[in-house]
Amino acid sequence: MRQIIIIGSGPAGYTAAIYAARANLKPLLIASSVEAGGELMNTTEVENFPGFPEAVMGPDLMFKMQAQAEKFGTEIVLDDVVSVDLTGEVKKVTLGSGAVHEALAVIFATGSAYRKLGLADEERLSGHGVSWCATCDGFFFRQRTIAVVGGGDSAMEEATFLTRFADKVYIIHRRDSLRASKIMQERAFANEKIEFIWNSEVIGIGGDEQVQDVKLRNLVTGEESELHLQGLFIAIGNDPRVHLVHGQLDLTPEGTIAVDGRSSKTNLPGVFAAGDVIDPTYRQAVTAAASGTVAALDAEHYLTTLPQNLLDSAADGASGDLELTTTA
Ligand SMILES: Cc1cc2nc3c(=O)[nH]c(=O)nc-3n(C[C@H](O)[C@H](O)[C@H](O)COP(=O)(O)OP(=O)(O)OC[C@H]3O[C@@H](n4cnc5c(N)ncnc54)[C@H](O)[C@@H]3O)c2cc1C
Repeated sequence: MRQIIIIGSGPAGYTAAIYAARANLKPLLIASSVEAGGELMNTTEVENFPGFPEAVMGPDLMFKMQAQAEKFGTEIVLDDVVSVDLTGEVKKVTLGSGAVHEALAVIFATGSAYRKLGLADEERLSGHGVSWCATCDGFFFRQRTIAVVGGGDSAMEEATFLTRFADKVYIIHRRDSLRASKIMQERAFANEKIEFIWNSEVIGIGGDEQVQDVKLRNLVTGEESELHLQGLFIAIGNDPRVHLVHGQLDLTPEGTIAVDGRSSKTNLPGVFAAGDVIDPTYRQAVTAAASGTVAALDAEHYLTTLPQNLLDSAADGASGDLELTTTA
């Protein structure tokens, strides 16, 4: 049995691991089989993570975090958690391989997935003009022409924010009215740099190295057109990765895991959550990392409240792990 298992390998998971490992808790971190490193693996330059005045490539930053977590004794498994049993004092975490790991504390740091348009070139041009985060990437679009896709509050907020940098910001929306709150709409309508393209969807993104244009279809007339631009911001929502905890952990109305105040404590003792999976608002690498710190410290404190015999059985780390494989 383990003292701590951390699920997720983004900034929240790795930071929780660094703290837990330095507290000698020998954490096991389940990193995912195909997406280890989290969202920043999908981007190029990160200019707003403190400590890197020359910027750092997203994957480089994540490899450094991984190395730092391993340096202090974190064990990392490249697999997916497929189910969890969080109810008892001893938590059970089952992996895709069939292995079952037990722990006294579990930290969920599974992040949140931005909704995609589902277009062929969207992934390829991610970090090369296609973005899901105005706060992260707006600075790269000074004096450029860009478009924001979406009609909700976050699309209006991103578009308005982006007018600080861009010369022109189109908002492309599928309908002829917005879902956004009145105040956000008014702010966008009043902004001279913003122009709305109504009843339209993006059906293609063009460009070899960088985004050069998007293809649009008018959903009323069926007419297709091309719009030349250098950036496309997709603001059509995001989905916290909470499918593992449905029915076990309380969720917020926004779909994130509910935690107690500024802590990482969920509704179940010994279960903590950190990063974008608890954050409907900020969703930044540095806020996720800070949240990972909180979760590790909360978990560390929780472990001190457990009976000594339980702690003794977890103190030697991996030796108690059950290597069960599923039978066909
Ligand atoms: C394209 C892009 C560019 C960005 N640029 C910036 C930027 O410049 N600056 C900035 O501050 N922020 C940026 N962000 C936001 C930032 O990436 C996120 O806020 C941050 O990564 C959140 O960290 P996290 O640890 O909570 O989750 P994530 O980074 O999403 O990591 C979660 C991890 O958990 C894993 N996981 C999920 N479910 C399971 C499971 N069942 N089993 C095992 N593993 C699982 C996932 O595979 C993933 O590896 C960007 C985001 C995107 C998409």
